[in-house]
Amino acid sequence: MVKPKENGKLRVKQEADYIFHELTRSICPECKTVIDAQIIIRDNKVYMRKRCPAHGWFEGIISSDAQMYVDSVKFNKPGTLPLEFSTEVKDGCPLDCGLCPEHKQHICLALIEVNTACNLNCPICFANAGVGFSLTMEQVEFMLDRFVEIEGDPEVIQFSGGEPTIHPDLMEMIQAARDRGIQQVMVNTNGVRIARDDKFLEDLAKQNPVIYFQFDGLRPETYLTIRGEDLLDMKLKALDRLAEKGMDAVLVAAIERGVNTDEVGAILKFGIEHPAVRGVVFQPVTHVGRHMDFNPMERVTIPDVIHGIVDQSDGRFVLEDFVPVPCCFPTCQVNSYVFVDGDTMVPLPRMLDIDKYLDYITNRALPKPTNSEDVQKALEGLWSASAVAGTEQTAGQFQCACGPGMELGYELSHLKDHIFQIAIKDFMDPWTFNVKQVMKCCVGILVPDGRVIPFCAYNSVGYREEIRDQLTKEGALEKARSKIRFAERSGS
Ligand code: SF4
Ligand code: SF4
Ligand code: SF4
Repeated sequence: MVKPKENGKLRVKQEADYIFHELTRSICPECKTVIDAQIIIRDNKVYMRKRCPAHGWFEGIISSDAQMYVDSVKFNKPGTLPLEFSTEVKDGCPLDCGLCPEHKQHICLALIEVNTACNLNCPICFANAGVGFSLTMEQVEFMLDRFVEIEGDPEVIQFSGGEPTIHPDLMEMIQAARDRGIQQVMVNTNGVRIARDDKFLEDLAKQNPVIYFQFDGLRPETYLTIRGEDLLDMKLKALDRLAEKGMDAVLVAAIERGVNTDEVGAILKFGIEHPAVRGVVFQPVTHVGRHMDFNPMERVTIPDVIHGIVDQSDGRFVLEDFVPVPCCFPTCQVNSYVFVDGDTMVPLPRMLDIDKYLDYITNRALPKPTNSEDVQKALEGLWSASAVAGTEQTAGQFQCACGPGMELGYELSHLKDHIFQIAIKDFMDPWTFNVKQVMKCCVGILVPDGRVIPFCAYNSVGYREEIRDQLTKEGALEKARSKIRFAERSGS
């Protein structure tokens, strides 16, 4: 037998420089066609590699720590199905949203984007805020009713935009959500009206939603880059005004490579010390809507933020303080909780072995104490997209997880001010979009036709653009009709 040769030498088989981890489905970042995608591991990092027949090969990083990525798989709990689905299975995931009967989880947290307009014009804006639509009260009430029909006992609604605080009916919308018994109401805001409008703040304080507060760092340059202007003083003023009103806020920081990855420790420290702040959500920038030029091989991932916190917090946090969230797909989000009392700061994962309760794959035998099922339930509540920082519910779950004999010494109404939540959410974009994750998504956007569309599908697959076009046309038509009605009434 003749052995294959090249230039007179025997040909030698090459070793691949990566481990083939799994095959999934994704989309082409150019044309959004659904295509196969390989998840590969190279140099302890995880990448998505895929080929579109029309646009060729794409590769991007999805986790900068392969061990964390692979270990997270065990934090995956069985889903809970919603009471109703809104679409049929027809073209396959992610084209049937939703929710379609193939979806693997109910919606823990629903968003209503009440408008597309904003009082800022950030260079980084996944919602691509600008001209578009403004929902009517009737539309919002229908969507809230639909949320109740689908969920029975809905957990969290978040009013978002654009900028929801410039919608004239925001207070009525919050009230409408409360009237339907929705457990937690949040408002997602850049803080401008809170900082500048006394009457608005007065009205908001009466409704007292938890404020999901855009806060990207403590350097003016960070805001100049991400938001297009120096907003630091405005942000600090708005937070102080929330504290004066006794309101609770969660800081939401968009984290971008080369801009503020070195600020995660400072943001966390600031949040823990500020009287209005009950938690921080770090969100690596998702490259949809408006965003800066970026290198898909260098985008920020969850382990970058965890390592950043550990490196920048003077030894207060360790890697093990951060645990994947089992209600969604476990590579989507990690959480931690800290008990804070003056200078004392104890992360919950140091108080009990959380793996024993939230590892659903390798270890199903719960630890011995008789209340272990209650502890597991409490931890499932805390490690969920529906856990809202600054609420008595979260404080109660924290106390329950600590168990008898670990009394924290506060009534729930005060304990809630001592429990600090840290969440890191890696929303997907067309480079990282993974059908496996979105099929178990528990964060959905309610839309006026009664569907609820998983957040990352809404942003990446084309739903956002389609629904915005449709609502913008309907809004323009309605405006034209009311002009005619007005002209007819006034006889002109
Ligand atoms: S993301 Fe869920 S709702 Fe949407 S198509 Fe996939 S399985 Fe269905
Ligand atoms: S990111 Fe938020 S504040 Fe900035 S333009 Fe978009 S909607 Fe407005
Ligand atoms: S919104 Fe995106 S990142 Fe969050 S749970 Fe859903 S699929 Fe995962």
